[in-house]
Amino acid sequence: MRRVISLPELRSARLSLTGKVGLVPTMGYLHEGHLSLVRRAVSENDLTACSIFVNPMQFGPKEDLAAYPRDLEGDLAKARQVGVDIAFVPTVDQMYPERFESRVSVEKVTKHLCGLSRPTHFDEVCTVVAKLFNITKPHLAVFGQKDYQQLTVISRMVKDLNMDLQILGVPTYREPDGLAMSSRNSHLNSEERKSALCLKKSMDLAGEMVAKGETRSAAIKKAIEDLIRSYPYTQIDYINLCDPVTLEDVDTLKGETLLALAVRVGKTRLIDNCVLGEGEKR
Ligand code: AMP
Repeated sequence: MRRVISLPELRSARLSLTGKVGLVPTMGYLHEGHLSLVRRAVSENDLTACSIFVNPMQFGPKEDLAAYPRDLEGDLAKARQVGVDIAFVPTVDQMYPERFESRVSVEKVTKHLCGLSRPTHFDEVCTVVAKLFNITKPHLAVFGQKDYQQLTVISRMVKDLNMDLQILGVPTYREPDGLAMSSRNSHLNSEERKSALCLKKSMDLAGEMVAKGETRSAAIKKAIEDLIRSYPYTQIDYINLCDPVTLEDVDTLKGETLLALAVRVGKTRLIDNCVLGEGEKR
């Protein structure tokens, strides 16, 4: 594996690459979820690049960038093990030099779910991802369905701006008890870790209600709200049932509906999602 830290190095490394190139953008502190994306990229491409960059721009003023977990040496060892050919680890100054002033903005799908409490987050995600695409010129880029809205926003950007690459979404990788893997899970203490299970339990409950014929969003949301409230240290940010394409709220479930959850457990904000009524037409 080649570790590249400067843009000119990456440019020259990219020029020497032939065949299909895959990219897995990450913020590091790699876990099995990230590695499942890398494995998929390795299987679909001739060469795989993985970027590790904690993008300061996408953290809001009240979000703790300094506390974001990091372990670059550990990440590089894991990336090497799963077959990454190039690890791209740019510095903030390289990505955002003096007088940087451009942004990529996606208008509608960014306004729902996490966009409500993080109004500039997705523009910053799109901007950094567009930069990573321009720098690494991948044929295919892999993202996790765990960050469903992010995957939706990036897919929209790629279509709208005629970016010449394919976006692939990979299913959420979970701990054996169902908790979606996340770098942020490392912030949970043992009691909070137990409460964090409320997200998966909520999705299971919603699945059961839908299987029994429930179609009213309000009834499903209320049941989930009661369930989450029964777990200590939890605070609900949102429980949303929405159209899986537009992310607009739905009152009545018809066909596939996205259940998206954001819950604070202690100080850690966790998100998860599932598609209810999978395979059913809207
Ligand atoms: P992050 O480092 O959190 O920015 O995540 C980098 C990529 O890994 C994103 O595309 C995430 O959606 C994806 N990812 C994070 N956690 C998981 C997971 N548990 N399962 C699958 N993909 C994940």
